[in-house]
Amino acid sequence: MFTKIPRLITFFTLSIFLLFSFTINVKASTTDQIVFIAVNDELVEFVDARPFVADGVTYVPLRSLATILKANVFYNSNENSVIIKKDSRFFKIYISENKYVTEAKNKMEAAEKLPFLIKTENDRIMVPLQFIAEYFQLEITFFEAGPIARLIEKNDLLNYTDEQLYVKYKEEIEVETERWKAERRHKKINKIAYLTFDDGPNKHTKPILDILQEHDVKATFFMIEPQIKDFKDDVQRMIAEGHMIGSHSVTHDKATVYQSPKTLLDEMNKTRETLLTITSFDSRLVRVPYGSKPYLTKEFRDILANNNIQVWDWNVDSNDWRYSQEMLISTVKKQVIGLEQKNITPVILFHNSLNTVQSLPEIIKFLKSEGYFLEAYDREHHIMINFWNDERL
Ligand SMILES: [Zn+2]
Repeated sequence: MFTKIPRLITFFTLSIFLLFSFTINVKASTTDQIVFIAVNDELVEFVDARPFVADGVTYVPLRSLATILKANVFYNSNENSVIIKKDSRFFKIYISENKYVTEAKNKMEAAEKLPFLIKTENDRIMVPLQFIAEYFQLEITFFEAGPIARLIEKNDLLNYTDEQLYVKYKEEIEVETERWKAERRHKKINKIAYLTFDDGPNKHTKPILDILQEHDVKATFFMIEPQIKDFKDDVQRMIAEGHMIGSHSVTHDKATVYQSPKTLLDEMNKTRETLLTITSFDSRLVRVPYGSKPYLTKEFRDILANNNIQVWDWNVDSNDWRYSQEMLISTVKKQVIGLEQKNITPVILFHNSLNTVQSLPEIIKFLKSEGYFLEAYDREHHIMINFWNDERL
């Protein structure tokens, strides 16, 4: 039998929730996968929002945490925070800030808030399970078939092995998986690819925007501060047409940008402020010059993470600055197909260049023919794409 999660939630008590986030044994490449949650010997049923795996992390509805963790959950609507309490331990999530603290209750107010990954799915707040469960010292196993993430309170109370548990629920799991797949097809959220353009804006930006408009697709632009001021109209057009903007430094000079964590942050903040002034859009997204490896060592990543900044690298490199048009197009196709086979979302690097302008229509046609929807970066659906696999970024 399923363990039912009560639909009713009182205002201040979210009651019991089991939280799972999964990095164990889950391929980091997975972008969107169903996952089943069990507590001890029973599978948990989710009424309104299903757990899922995104980029190797298992997310569960915040609302179900109490059931899953067998903890008490208290919601504070004034500060939009949730406290999860189990035995003498506390875990507090600041929902609008994407932060958490884990101090004892009396020290909580003074504790430093740390970045925390929260996703929303159909307006439900989804939080990483494993991270929270481990804080409460619950054991988690992951069974590939299913897959099932299983929270265990006390090993000696279990009647089933992971395999036996899977067999027990096999039929329900298969039915649920089919239903999930059908819904997914219905929603057409099958595949997303991200086009990204660095080193603009410049004279090639307008033709790029024209092509994107003509094909009705969205993209993400990582821009250099002085140029933003020179091409204000193009930057405003990006926002007006639904593209995403991000910072790509002021100087783009290795020695200057990476002189210290502070110079890096200052360059990104200055760019962010200029973008904000021109577009009224506050973007916390950056791409660091030359990509995050090797320059973005831990102390650099720390300062960005602590300032709640997302760093995006790429996983498809068009090599547009050195390849012929023909080679550019063929390398992008080849790399995208490689990722497609592994179910990884492509984030494609281009520059604002003539070569890219000339190749872009064919690349867009190719991606559409492969079934991709071309979207702009969306903070609500952040996926981790950095060469360090730093989950904070
Ligand atoms: Zn660059």
